[in-house]
Amino acid sequence: MHLPLIDGFGREHTNLRISVTDRCNLRCFYCMPAEHVQFMERSEILTFDEIERFVRIAVPLGLRKLRLTGGEPLVRRDLNVLIRKLAQIKGIEDIGLTTNGILLADQARDLFDAGLRRINVSLDALDAQKFAAITRRQGYEKVINGIQTAKGIGFDPIKVNAVAVRGLTEEEIVPFGLFARRTGVEIRFIEFMPLDADNAWDHGKVLYSNEIVEVLEREIMPLVPLPNRNPKAPATEFVFADGIGRIGFISSVSQPFCMSCDRFRITADGKLRNCLFSTEETDVKVLLRSGSDDSAVEAAIRSSIAMKKAGHEINAANFIQPSRPMYSIGG
Ligand code: SAM
Ligand code: SF4
Repeated sequence: MHLPLIDGFGREHTNLRISVTDRCNLRCFYCMPAEHVQFMERSEILTFDEIERFVRIAVPLGLRKLRLTGGEPLVRRDLNVLIRKLAQIKGIEDIGLTTNGILLADQARDLFDAGLRRINVSLDALDAQKFAAITRRQGYEKVINGIQTAKGIGFDPIKVNAVAVRGLTEEEIVPFGLFARRTGVEIRFIEFMPLDADNAWDHGKVLYSNEIVEVLEREIMPLVPLPNRNPKAPATEFVFADGIGRIGFISSVSQPFCMSCDRFRITADGKLRNCLFSTEETDVKVLLRSGSDDSAVEAAIRSSIAMKKAGHEINAANFIQPSRPMYSIGG
């Protein structure tokens, strides 16, 4: 009988985000440097067998939900093989993927056949030129095509993540609202967080959720909260008053949801993080590769969760930005 993963603030951890690579085919300014990126050595990256073993050890401790991320998870070869392995683990109730969508059209069928159903596609602008300015790469049409292909295959839900950046996102608010109404895809605005590689974040660069709500309600129609939402989900979700078009907000900066956080993370190189903003990590790769038994890995998970702080403190004067940028943590 294993005890659940409860931290010092009574939060139970049932939700793991797995970064499968730090490599990426885009260079979004809020996540990666423009050039000279130092990627992890391939030998440092957890194998599918190591990831599967880690998940199998965590399931008896209460792990139920997984999300695969990166870097760009679809640049990891044969990702569908990992998804198939994870989907077969008894106790895993839900697997999601967060992708930039560039390779989605090519891989959607294999991912679906492996058991994946939930996809979040990151797209910050409904305009090819703005997309290129943000991601420092071309590929807008590929992402749109990826979303359409995934929809056609039957993925559900499909959500679009848009980072809300002051000076960039304002003009995208109404087009995204109309896109949500036209396509049935939920748009989720994520407040820009201090996880950029350039350390250029400041509060002035965040476009806050309440400002976006104001524009949507003024230009389209009022939003009403979605009933029955999961209180542990980070997004506050709304639907337009006529019932058509869902909009979510991840207001990590203006309304931190740390006290209901049920997540922990493992980086592509096998470091356990109890928070996106942790400045400390627990090395589980060393255990997975040194012949340690499952109880040693379990103890490492427990000690990481036990060290979890109350919250991220982005708004505190003494906030320290993690040394790993988002692409290397796994968002
Ligand atoms: N490459 C995939 C993608 O872009 O969807 C998965 C990894 S990416 C790091 C995961 C999510 O984090 C994306 O939705 C991305 O927009 C978001 N993200 C990255 N940096 C961010 C930041 N500084 N603030 C808020 N969200 C960020
Ligand atoms: Fe790549 Fe995703 Fe980071 Fe953009 S947000 S650079 S797509 S990992």
